[in-house]
This record gives sequence, C-alpha cells and structure tokens, in this order.
Amino acid sequence: DTARLRLPPWLKREIPLGESYSKLKADLRGLNLHTVCEEARCPNIGECWGGNDDNVSTATIMLMGDTCTRGCRFCSVKTARRPPPLDPNEPVNTATAITKWGLNYVVLTSVDRDDISDGGSSHFAETVRELKRQNSSILVECLVPDFGGNQTSVATIAGSGLDVFAHNIETVESLTPRVRDPRARYRQSLSVLEHAKVAENGLLTKSSIMLGLGETDQEVMQTLKDLRSAGVDCVTLGQYMQPTKRHLRVAEYITPEKYQHWEKVGQDLGFLYTASGPLVRSSYRAGELFLKNHLN
Ligand code: SF4
Ligand code: SF4
Repeated sequence: DTARLRLPPWLKREIPLGESYSKLKADLRGLNLHTVCEEARCPNIGECWGGNDDNVSTATIMLMGDTCTRGCRFCSVKTARRPPPLDPNEPVNTATAITKWGLNYVVLTSVDRDDISDGGSSHFAETVRELKRQNSSILVECLVPDFGGNQTSVATIAGSGLDVFAHNIETVESLTPRVRDPRARYRQSLSVLEHAKVAENGLLTKSSIMLGLGETDQEVMQTLKDLRSAGVDCVTLGQYMQPTKRHLRVAEYITPEKYQHWEKVGQDLGFLYTASGPLVRSSYRAGELFLKNHLN
C-alpha cells in the first residue's frame, strides 16, 4: 500500500506566537544566526522562544554551515562530500549574537562534518567557551554528532563547560540502518552518550527518539532501557514527520495517549525527565524542563 497516511487532528495545530516571540524574532534580524526553529518551521517556536509561564526562552542554533557530509533518510539538510570550510570567526560571532539576543537557554547543534579530522568538536567547544565567557548565566546544551565514535572529540565537547550533552539515538536498533546514514550506528550512539558521562563526571546527558517509523512498542522499550544503561538522564519522544516526498514515509501516527504512556514509562525507568508528545522535538522547551527538573 503506497497511500500516504492522513494527518491526524492532534498534529494540525495553530502556532501560538506570544509577545516575547515577536520580540525575539525582531531582535534576530541582523544577528546572522541560523536557527533550526525557523529553518525547520518548528511548531513549538512560540513556546520555546518565550511563550511559556516561566519565561525561559530557548532556541536552537545551527553551527558549522548548512551542508552535512551525511544523508539520513529523515532529514532535509543538504548533503555534500566536501562542504565549505568552517568559518574561524563563527565561535566568537555566534556567541556575541546569542548574548545580544538575550536567550536564557541555548541549544547549539550542527551538521556532521566527517570531512574534518576532529569532526568540528574543537570549533563547537570554542563556541561554548566563548558564549560562557560573554554570558556566564546562560545555560548551554550541545546536540552533537557521533564524531564517528571518536572519544577524544566527545571528551572535547564534554569538557567545554556546557550544561547538557545531547546526542540523538533517533530510532530503535532494527530501523537504524534504514533511517540514519550508514555511518551512524545504534551502538556507536550509545557509546558516545556513555563516554560523555565518563569523560565529565556528573555531566547531564540527553537523547531523543522519533516515533512512527515502524518500530514496535517492545523496541521502543528496549531503546529506553539501553539509554538508561548508558547513563542518559533525559529523554524526549516525538512524532516523525516526513519533511519532503523524497524522505522516508511516516509508517504510523502515534496517538497522544501512547505518548503519555511513554512518559510514564520514562519516569518509571528513572529518567530525570521524559518529554513525550506528538510535537515534542529534542530541544522542546529544553530550558524550562532543565530548570524545573535540575535546579529545583
Ligand atoms: Fe526551536 Fe527546538 Fe523549540 Fe523547535 S523544539 S522551536 S527547534 S528549540
Ligand atoms: Fe541530518 Fe544530522 Fe543526518 Fe546530517 S547527520 S543528515 S544533519 S540528521
């Protein structure tokens, strides 16, 4: 059956855009920052950019260019074997722009750069250090590539002074070869998360799973357990959405009730927090959840 599934009602949603969203959006002009929030037209932008009760604003910034050396079948980022070289001024310029923008919590992420010997880890770490130097109260989460499993690169990020180390497992083990680029492997991602924790004792770690790619409940359960075994503290689960016709089809729209179930399972397994819902993305209200669950 090649018929495309119809979008269920819980995914049709108006994007609530608060006052602080408009302000942040206006401030963003001229700062030359690439937010994933805008580029992916993320439905949570109103909430993340400042619409929530605690007034914690979160945004996700993309580093190291817009072209990836990998080609995952769920992702719409451009691919090339040799993307343009890194901009050596990016760490300072990005840190300055984020500081001016006035966020409380920032997620720094990047494309994968298998063409660079350290995968761009020192460039990434330099951005974190520069950001903390300019604004010591900002909380920084890094959502990083697997660096081909290179432990030195992982340790470089883990020791950069960040607050949360995030790496996404994306899907269950059996679907990994079909969903992610062949260089991304399930066990490798687990070991990246495990190593970050070893390299920097006490570092908070986080991962995300997309649902609706054809995984079974038993496999989701196993993935959550595997993440716990790797010492992962925080987990998010959300619906996979097909970005274009050339990408993997959605196999199933998971119901809101099922997401509630996974949230409960996550709590029972001992995660510090589990964010689970159809529209949840790995950085969804990350600052707010961090403050609620970690500092209180
Ligand atoms: Fe941005 Fe992530 Fe929030 Fe979406 S969920 S608006 S990408 S910070
Ligand atoms: Fe997209 Fe990341 Fe895969 Fe690159 S490695 S194609 S940015 S998901």
